[in-house]
Amino acid sequence: MIRNTDLFKQYIFIKEEVDKAVHEVIYATDFINGKSTKEFEKQFAEYNNVKYCLGVNSGTDALEIAIQSFDFPKNSEIILPVNSFIATAEAISNNQLKPVFCDCNKNNYSISEKEIIENINEKTVAIILVHLYGYPVNIDKIKKIVKKRKLKVIEDCAQAHGSKYRNKKVGTFFDVGAFSFYPGKNLGAYGDAGAIISNNKKIYKKCSLIANHGRENKNEHIIIGRNSRLDGIQAAILTTKLKYLNKWISKRNLLAREYSKNLKNLSQIKLPIINSKSLSSFHQFVVQAKKRDQLELFLNKEQIETNIHYPKTITQQPAFKENKHYKNAEFFAKNIISLPIGEHLKISDIKYICSQIEKFYEKNFNDNKKRVASG
Ligand SMILES: *Cc1c(COP(=O)(O)O)cnc(C)c1O
Repeated sequence: MIRNTDLFKQYIFIKEEVDKAVHEVIYATDFINGKSTKEFEKQFAEYNNVKYCLGVNSGTDALEIAIQSFDFPKNSEIILPVNSFIATAEAISNNQLKPVFCDCNKNNYSISEKEIIENINEKTVAIILVHLYGYPVNIDKIKKIVKKRKLKVIEDCAQAHGSKYRNKKVGTFFDVGAFSFYPGKNLGAYGDAGAIISNNKKIYKKCSLIANHGRENKNEHIIIGRNSRLDGIQAAILTTKLKYLNKWISKRNLLAREYSKNLKNLSQIKLPIINSKSLSSFHQFVVQAKKRDQLELFLNKEQIETNIHYPKTITQQPAFKENKHYKNAEFFAKNIISLPIGEHLKISDIKYICSQIEKFYEKNFNDNKKRVASG
């Protein structure tokens, strides 16, 4: 079976280091708000070349707390892409604010800059950018949009640890970056975990207060907060894995290039277009495929694991149901497929997957042959 993520294989590879790190935390009973968490926060801030990092309980919490820290007026609106994981929208709604969805572009998976502008009104307070699949959004275009307007920008980097735009890490371009360390993400904990990064001390302080019971010190609770902390064991695992992240991202890029090389002449497959100014972390390798559903069944039968990220737009989910249509995102939901990518795979795996994809199209609808036959 060729898997899209193989966390067991990854664990076996780093087992000694991870086991040691976890045991150190247990021996030191360094479970909450201790050295281990501080160390990860320091290292993850350094990794992103940013001043502050706050570990929290999940990527969803990172978004929710980041939004809360701005104290937006009631009924404010926050703009977001309709093609994301649902957490991006939940974080807005759970702050009693209104999510305003935008379609994505036609030729990439990023939020449509045109629709952002169309949706801005006097109630708009912020935009959430999602670097979906690890592919960075066009930061230059967003900068132009927010320049003359007083809008906050939150980068949802849950899929984009280590992704770069103009050689600078995503999550660092605007007010705040939110990360998820869900196990299957490129940098994953062994449970739920997340982080907020910022260069703004005020935002960092406010988020720290919110995430730790509004507590300034042990018995002083300044605001009504909550409990959302990155625990010491998860932090130790993340610190261990962080050392490998760049190597793993390079491997993903190598595999992505191999996919492109093998699939570029296949008319039924549309490869991802990555902004030339950026480096993608390739959390997913997403292509558009003719006869997507049949292709998926075929590959799965050949022991190749695939996923759809995502089969529905957020507004096609009952929780956020809208009758309005989002043409590009809805088209993608029906046509995209995520092919296996990850540090556990070899070039030969990618070659095999591509040969199977070719075989599927040869068998099922061979455009070339038909053309020859009728010509
Ligand atoms: C995974 C993910 C989240 C949520 O992260 P959790 O840690 O699972 O809460 C948010 N946004 C995007 C785009 C994600 O992929």
